[in-house]
Amino acid sequence: MKLDQFPPEMQSLVIPKISGRYLYRCLGCEELYGIEELLYTCPKCGSVLLIEDMQWDRLKEIPGQTWRKIFDYRKMSNLGALKGIYLFHELIGSIIPLEDIVYLGEAHTPVVGANAVMKEWVGMDICFKNDGQNPSASFKDRGMASAFSYLNYLINTRGVRDVLAICASTGDTSAAAALYASYLCGRVKSAVLLPSGKVTPQQLGQPLGSGARVIEIPGVFDDCMKVVEYLSENYSVALMNSKNAWRILGQESYSYEVAQSFDYQVGGLAVVAPIGNAGNITAIMAGFLKMYDLGVIDALPAVLGVQSEHANPVYLYYREAEKSRRKFHPVTVRPSVAQAAMIGNPVSMPRVIRLVEQYRKIGGEQSVKFVQISEQEIMDSMLFANRNGHIACTQGGECLAGIRKAVAENLVDAKRTAVLDATAHALKFAVFQDKYFSDAFEPEFEVSPKKPMQNAPFSISLPGSVPNPAAGSLGAQEFDAFVRYSASVIADVLELKRLG
Ligand SMILES: *Cc1c(COP(=O)(O)O)cnc(C)c1O
Ligand SMILES: [Zn+2]
Repeated sequence: MKLDQFPPEMQSLVIPKISGRYLYRCLGCEELYGIEELLYTCPKCGSVLLIEDMQWDRLKEIPGQTWRKIFDYRKMSNLGALKGIYLFHELIGSIIPLEDIVYLGEAHTPVVGANAVMKEWVGMDICFKNDGQNPSASFKDRGMASAFSYLNYLINTRGVRDVLAICASTGDTSAAAALYASYLCGRVKSAVLLPSGKVTPQQLGQPLGSGARVIEIPGVFDDCMKVVEYLSENYSVALMNSKNAWRILGQESYSYEVAQSFDYQVGGLAVVAPIGNAGNITAIMAGFLKMYDLGVIDALPAVLGVQSEHANPVYLYYREAEKSRRKFHPVTVRPSVAQAAMIGNPVSMPRVIRLVEQYRKIGGEQSVKFVQISEQEIMDSMLFANRNGHIACTQGGECLAGIRKAVAENLVDAKRTAVLDATAHALKFAVFQDKYFSDAFEPEFEVSPKKPMQNAPFSISLPGSVPNPAAGSLGAQEFDAFVRYSASVIADVLELKRLG
């Protein structure tokens, strides 16, 4: 819809204006820093940062109801800059001019309700939000759209040149970073560090296809992260890991969209996310808190963070109920099918601790929960989801296994509706389905395939007497013999009934 066709009172609100004053806040010592230079950790105490709008309260002058209208009308606009995460411009990047926004088709991913079979299996009403339908096929595009839009703004306004965007990744971060960098090619180059052999072939192919310099490092993600941190501290690079607080801002769009999808009635939801580096769960909580503060939503949804038993530091931290006794210990990860979340020392842990505290202060002690599940449960759940019409990756399966367990253990009220983050597309993690179907899991994964959940192609082999099209082109009669033979085998296999 064109701007002049919106109701007159909405026209001045639909197009965002540049406003606000953004600063980095250190979560260790509370120091504030200007955003003119890219900063990833506090120069004083080394802790991670979040971005804060010092003029946030100006947004409260607009009633929550009006904000809802603004966001809903924006959905009808075809202005590129507002079609992605910046539909929520005021909440995540109000200082970035629309012309600097990089939009590659990210965000506004579908929310797909589960069928009756799945609802019964879980014991509650559930749906998946398919973040695998983002351009690089994972939710990471949300944060990259934000980080690269801000980078683009810096390039355009401050004449920043020769930018090298760099990140360590469990696969999807690098795919997203390389994609957004490739759009800014000529001005931004990208390099990605991957743990050798610990990303799927699809995830390796993505940054290669985008033209990034791909560097494989022995070890796991936590080891890559150490190298990339050293590089960012000692060389001039733009760090695109979730240490980069702009990533968190962009990922908040997930919560805003969930709210919008449910007409801003989110008090009865349980929002479920897998936890790896913990940027996503941080952003999800931060997003709902912001909307609550503006009166866009009038209650917070419950939040459930899910971890595999093979990479569970956040779960272990919160297992201690007594706050003063909680102590964070990194864990040594074991092989996990939820490979994108296979992280033992999450960068965003200080953010999680802060956000959980804020969230529970408003939503109550029960409003944020954590659960751990086995690798077996993750695989079985992913396959089950996809047999029921979904496109969940292993981390999406992790969400499903997690909510099922949480319902069974009364951690989440079954009267809620659960929104599960299908964080990536199933195709990215096809290797794990293959391992399951062909019984090829290495013992460390601790996954034993269940026969009924396996699937394999049925190959027709032609006896010598039947003409074979693979051997060369067939005459009409030969071809007919081939079709008849194949059809009869298929009819047998599928137990088809003959017509008439
Ligand atoms: C990155 C990623 C995760 C983990 O998210 P964090 O923000 O690191 O906690 C989960 N699933 C997929 C598909 C991912 O790419
Ligand atoms: Zn500090």
